[in-house]
Amino acid sequence: MINSQRRSKLLNQLSVFRELYLGSAMTKKELTKSTGLSTPTVTKALSGLSARKLITEKGRKDIPTGRKPKKYGLNNNSIYCLGVDLEIPDLRLAVYDLSRRMIATKGSYMEMDDLQKNPAAYITEKLSREFKDLVYHEEMAENSIVGAGIATSGIVKDGKFRPFSRFVSFSDIELKNPLEKKLGIPTSFGNDVDLQLLSELDRIGPINDEGHVAIYFGARLSGKRKPIIRIGGSIAIGGDICHGAGGSAGEFGHMSIRSEDADAELPPTNCGNDNCLESFVNARLEENGGLSVPDSISRAIQQKIKDLVFVFSPSLIIVDLEAFPEITDEVITELESFTSTLGQSMGLENIRIKEPLDRDRSATRGAVINHFNNLLLDPSNFSVLMENYKS
Ligand SMILES: [Zn+2]
Repeated sequence: MINSQRRSKLLNQLSVFRELYLGSAMTKKELTKSTGLSTPTVTKALSGLSARKLITEKGRKDIPTGRKPKKYGLNNNSIYCLGVDLEIPDLRLAVYDLSRRMIATKGSYMEMDDLQKNPAAYITEKLSREFKDLVYHEEMAENSIVGAGIATSGIVKDGKFRPFSRFVSFSDIELKNPLEKKLGIPTSFGNDVDLQLLSELDRIGPINDEGHVAIYFGARLSGKRKPIIRIGGSIAIGGDICHGAGGSAGEFGHMSIRSEDADAELPPTNCGNDNCLESFVNARLEENGGLSVPDSISRAIQQKIKDLVFVFSPSLIIVDLEAFPEITDEVITELESFTSTLGQSMGLENIRIKEPLDRDRSATRGAVINHFNNLLLDPSNFSVLMENYKS
């Protein structure tokens, strides 16, 4: 039982930590102002956070006259988080510090035959070997890594996932328990495109507007042996990812295409929608020998994003056409002209359209942010961390 005095001390520490985690280095005076806490309370919180090595002094603030006040910020040599991108069959691991900066990375490849025989056992074995390897080569203390965020394709719910577009699996792959047992650290899971959006939102900064709606539309090239275009998406409302009741919200790649573009036969789909956009794009590309991007693909993508504008009334649209860099400008220009028309006809203004800030486009960073946010910004998890973590 945590008594109320102890609890309010932890909540004060959390509100100071939150400012430094979501913002940049600040002076005591700035922290007092932004948290609404008294100066002695901020002083106490700072010393508690420093004792746990979560924050540190970051030089002094330049002011025109008088004594320059000390600034405080995150201690990036304290705790780390592992990010994993299960981009089946590719596998990517990366370690990030508290400021969500990547400090080490490692890529690998999963054998599809072995993976399909027993996905959970294979991934657990493979991942723990790669993790040990990474930690060893970077000479990191294993206990400084406080958790692992895992990004997977397909539908993700409660640490289980179903990568329905990678291989046919008619049951969910339960990865959380075996992985936590093997790695010895807590894990959290998310859909790769959801996590990509989370990473973008982290770079933009805290979203204080509850009505802010961001949508992410991605078309990526995946697979080294047999390249295939994956189309996915994500929705965030007020900065929080919208998962839907079944965890599948934002699977924009499986929406139907217009009937006039679907005249030709499309290959059978794993998703259950015969008229699916992802299937259409891959079929058209194959017909074209992959030499250039047919107009029908550009048209279909533009149309999909336009439809999303009517459904979600977004504040921000992130267009990630990594698979088709040659049509990115065309698509964005068309969307800008479309939204400006909507500004006149429907009064929908201020829809920002942009490419992702994260050029790396791996979901490892988003997976880490997901894990860190759970661990560091939730009062009960934060109190466990403050109680247990001694560096
Ligand atoms: Zn589909």
